[in-house]
Amino acid sequence: MHSQMQELKRLLGEIKDIQSAAAVLEWDQATLMPPGGAAARARQLATLTRLAHERLTDPSLGKLLDELGPYESNMPHDSDEAGLIRAARYDFEQAIRVPAGFLAEFSAHASEAYQAWTAARPADDFGSMVPILERTLQLSRRLAEYFPGYEHIADPLIEYSDRGMTVAELRIVFDELRQGLTPLVKAIDEHPPFDDSCLRRTFPEQAQLAFGREVIERLGFDFARGRQDKSPHPFMTGFSLGDVRITTRVDEHMLTQALMGTIHEAGHAMYEQGINPEFEGTPLADGVSSGVHESQSRLWENIVGRSRPFWSFFFPRLQGVFPDQLNGVLVETFYQAINRVDKSLIRTEADELTYNLHVMIRFDLELAMLEGSLAVRDLPEAWRERYRSDIGIVPPDNRDGVLQDVHWYAGRIGGAFQGYTLGNVLGAQFFEAARTAHPEIENEISSGSFETLHGWLREHVYTHGRKYTTPELVEIATGKPVSSEPYLRYLRQKFGELYRL
Ligand code: ZN
Repeated sequence: MHSQMQELKRLLGEIKDIQSAAAVLEWDQATLMPPGGAAARARQLATLTRLAHERLTDPSLGKLLDELGPYESNMPHDSDEAGLIRAARYDFEQAIRVPAGFLAEFSAHASEAYQAWTAARPADDFGSMVPILERTLQLSRRLAEYFPGYEHIADPLIEYSDRGMTVAELRIVFDELRQGLTPLVKAIDEHPPFDDSCLRRTFPEQAQLAFGREVIERLGFDFARGRQDKSPHPFMTGFSLGDVRITTRVDEHMLTQALMGTIHEAGHAMYEQGINPEFEGTPLADGVSSGVHESQSRLWENIVGRSRPFWSFFFPRLQGVFPDQLNGVLVETFYQAINRVDKSLIRTEADELTYNLHVMIRFDLELAMLEGSLAVRDLPEAWRERYRSDIGIVPPDNRDGVLQDVHWYAGRIGGAFQGYTLGNVLGAQFFEAARTAHPEIENEISSGSFETLHGWLREHVYTHGRKYTTPELVEIATGKPVSSEPYLRYLRQKFGELYRL
């Protein structure tokens, strides 16, 4: 069996190398590549994607995994080798279900849809997107059909980004959350929004970037095994556990964009930098799911980065960097400004509290389209209706309504949004478990020290990489199943205190 394990690691290592090479090309495309490189780059990426897919679906890999079956079943569930075989078998079985020809058809359609959307959104032209989106819906349904036996047609699509989660389970978590959030948002709505003009002065780019670097270095982002660059849409990517990169964008007239975005992406990156180094080059050297990944970006961005203890330490430093803009501003005013709750139309600009309402609207509309109870042409009206009833604000056009997010216009319908809110839920659940084990964490944060929190996350979440599924990892790390209660407790405590409810 030893030689078969070696062979498995060799095959998986080569697949990972091809995928990592593609990731370097994608990073370069998003940060440094001149526009003239676009056509060749698209071809190069398609070639690498095809090579990786061919290897991932190679029958000899399937045969090897079959041979390793008895060996795996004799090993404890938590052994690294069993975890590796499980992850490899899962990836193999997911990949062989879907014919390569269908994938190529879907990805060609997705790039055309994306091109059309880049023109349709600024023109507020949903009409031109209707036939394209109908095709996307049809292809998404066909993709789900390759995984028969599902309970809800969205389940196989959710599985792609949040393995182990289903519509039935998510509905329970989201319903609890909506019931808890609605009265809180209503109560806050009675107060005038906090004044956030202190964030809207002019903050030169270089100083913003330098301050952001100082912050994430203190949090524990390792610049010897990562770097930061600029790109129009911030993201994190990794080429190995020793090279995990983030990007940031800067708005000189909105202080929180670069700063909170940098902390968010650093949270994603610290997760991957913290994976067990022995998993390097294997499918375990990755995050569990989009929900767990997002739990780390949001834990650091919101629970830590928008907290009172955090700013009691960092605000005097920020004032030192921007004395003309911030002298005379009280730390309390700043804290209120970065936690301003306000009804808004755009998901990515929404506050910590109403953000989830935006996500749940999209989640429900996706399900309705997949179920066939909502036609694509009726989507704008359904969108406006839900914004009216759930958030209390109606978009004046489709540009800032149903056309605002790229997800449906550059990929599948189904499984695209739940990870964001799941991330908020799981982030609070992990943080509560860490603080129960180490009540000193809050005091440490107010003295600019993050090692106890970071250490707990490394030990209970990061190190496992992709060894467990989301429900398993949550159980192992917190001793409890996935629950929205810790998140609701956190929100009620924080916003109740902020708004004196
Ligand atoms: Zn994120």
